[in-house]
Amino acid sequence: MNWSAWKLFIDTQPAFRQRQINHAVFKELAANWSAVSVLPLKDRQWLETNCPLDINYTLSGKETDPAQKARIVLADGLTIETVIMHYGTGRQIVCLSSQVGCPLGCAFCQTGQQGFKRNLTAGEIIEQALLWQRLLAPAGQHINNLVFMGMGEPLLNLPQVLEGVEWLHSPSALDIGWRHVAISTVGLMPELKHLLNYGQQIKIAWSLHAPEDKWRDQLMPINRRYSLAVLKPIFREYVIKTNRRLMIEYLLLDHINDQLEQAEELANFLADFPKNLLLINLLNYNPGVGNFHPSSSRTREAFIKFLEKRGYKVTTRLSLGQDILGACGQLGI
Ligand code: SF4
Repeated sequence: MNWSAWKLFIDTQPAFRQRQINHAVFKELAANWSAVSVLPLKDRQWLETNCPLDINYTLSGKETDPAQKARIVLADGLTIETVIMHYGTGRQIVCLSSQVGCPLGCAFCQTGQQGFKRNLTAGEIIEQALLWQRLLAPAGQHINNLVFMGMGEPLLNLPQVLEGVEWLHSPSALDIGWRHVAISTVGLMPELKHLLNYGQQIKIAWSLHAPEDKWRDQLMPINRRYSLAVLKPIFREYVIKTNRRLMIEYLLLDHINDQLEQAEELANFLADFPKNLLLINLLNYNPGVGNFHPSSSRTREAFIKFLEKRGYKVTTRLSLGQDILGACGQLGI
């Protein structure tokens, strides 16, 4: 979606017309402007030329699979990927990308290893959710949650990410509640402070992956710039001040960060957070880049048990979408 053209047009329209346009695009899910018959012909023609609604994509997986991936070709020919996870309970969770590629180069991440092309516009972020909603609608389903865990670091493109989320949250668009939106970040300054003070109840996930700088420096080069000593007090203050839960993302890598020694370091590192407001989310490594291997189930169980004994709430994220290269860390340009 050409966001500049969209805003140029919609901002000049009277309120009733704005409502009609939003209804046509986000409720009736029109795939082209010729279907929006409430608009005068000349407006439809202008929009069709300057802000087309069609989305150029290819799909991997079927709607009966646990996850599907869409590769979207943007107007400038670059591509991004977005994933939907269909949970058995009927929940539909959409994983959104915020950048084409990513400049941060985390060692375990396919996106990071492919370099950075550009930030996405708010329109290109909205378009990803709109595509999934169009695909869900015939079965009477609706997106339940949005998570920024796709390609890119959301904090490097925060204004566009928040503008996109605000639109998707709007009752006249997809009406997705603030608490149903999660932003995952490695932690960058000063954007982190801005996000944590944003004021809406967006969920925050910290991609930690290692509890000591000596490990994190190797896995995530950005840690050399924003070390754990810089980031931890900011996340801690957020949790204490807002009384909101912080999710700690921790990717288990065989014999890299999955031993009991690291479980103990992690438990000690988090000891001064209120435990009831932390959720440690252990991720399984999905083979892709780097010389890494997933942890064995035995090692993972021991890691979980150790943390639970220390009073932490721990979950393990299911690796949906591995077969379509749509799981965490596997999205590519
Ligand atoms: S894990 Fe996230 S921040 Fe790191 S390279 Fe991949 S997309 Fe970028």
